[in-house]
Amino acid sequence: GNEVVLSVQLVPFDSTRKLLLSRDITQIERVQTIHRDFVANVSHELRTPLTVVGGFIETLIDIPDIDPQLRSQQLRLMHEQAMRMQRLVEDLLTLSRLENGVDIRDERFEVAELVKLVASEARGLSQGRHQITLSIDDSPPMYGSYDELHSAFGNLVSNAVRYTPDGGEIRVSWKYDATTAQGSFSVEDTGIGIDPIHIPRLTERFYRIDRGRSRATGGTGLGLAIVKHIVQRHQAKLDIQSEPGKGSRFSIQIPANRLATSLVDAHK
Ligand code: ADP
Repeated sequence: GNEVVLSVQLVPFDSTRKLLLSRDITQIERVQTIHRDFVANVSHELRTPLTVVGGFIETLIDIPDIDPQLRSQQLRLMHEQAMRMQRLVEDLLTLSRLENGVDIRDERFEVAELVKLVASEARGLSQGRHQITLSIDDSPPMYGSYDELHSAFGNLVSNAVRYTPDGGEIRVSWKYDATTAQGSFSVEDTGIGIDPIHIPRLTERFYRIDRGRSRATGGTGLGLAIVKHIVQRHQAKLDIQSEPGKGSRFSIQIPANRLATSLVDAHK
C-alpha cells in the first residue's frame, strides 16, 4: 500500500521540478542572449565613429598641405563623431550606475522648478522650430533624486523635439491630483508617432525604430532605457501612447508617497 502512494506522489513532484528547472535555464539563456546582444551593440556603435575618425586622421597625415577649408571640414566631422562617442559613453555610465543602484540620493524639491527647467531646455534644443507650451499644477514638493528625474524628464522632452518635424507642437505638463495625491509629468508631441507594435520594446537598450533618424538627431538608443530605470527606482510608472503620423504622449506617473508632504512635514 505504501509503495503505491509514494510513486503516485513522486510523479507530480518530479514533473514540477523538471518544469522549474527548464524555466530557470530558459531564463539564464535569455539573460545571456541579452548580454551578448548588448556587447555587440556597444561595439557596433563605437566602431562606426572610430572608423570615420581614423580615416580622417590618416588623410590629414598623408596630405599635410591639404586645403584649409577641407581640413576644417574634416576636423568638424571628427569632432561630431567624438561627441557622439562621448554621449554614448555617458549614457552607458548612467545606465550602469542606475543598474548598480549606487549614488542614490533622495531629496525634496519643487517639481514646478524642475519642469520649468526641462521646458526651457526643450526650447533650447528646438531653437524655435516647434511651438512649446507649458502647464504646471500646484503640488507639494517631490521626494526623489533631482538629478535622475531631471534626466528622465529631459530625455522625454528631447525625444519629443527630435521626433517632431519643424512647425510641430510640444506640450509639457505637470498635473497633480489632490484627491489621490498622485502627480503626472507628460510630454505630448505632434511628431512622427510610433506604431503600437514597437511600444512594448521601446525601453530596451538600443531599440530604435529608425536607426538613421535616431543617429542623425544625436540619439544613442539608450534614452528610454535610462528613463525606465529611473522610473522604477521611484516606484513611478511610464505610460506611452502614440499614433503613427499623429504624435506621441509619454508620461511618468509619480506615486502619492513621493508627493504627500503631510507625513514628512509633520515631523520636520
Ligand atoms: P534614441 O536615442 O534612439 O532616441 P530612445 O531610447 O530615447 O533612443 O528612444 C528609443 C526609440 O523610441 C527612438 O529611436 C524612436 O524610434 C522612438 N521614440 C522615442 N521617443 C519618440 C517620440 N517622441 N516620437 C516618436 N518616436 C519616439
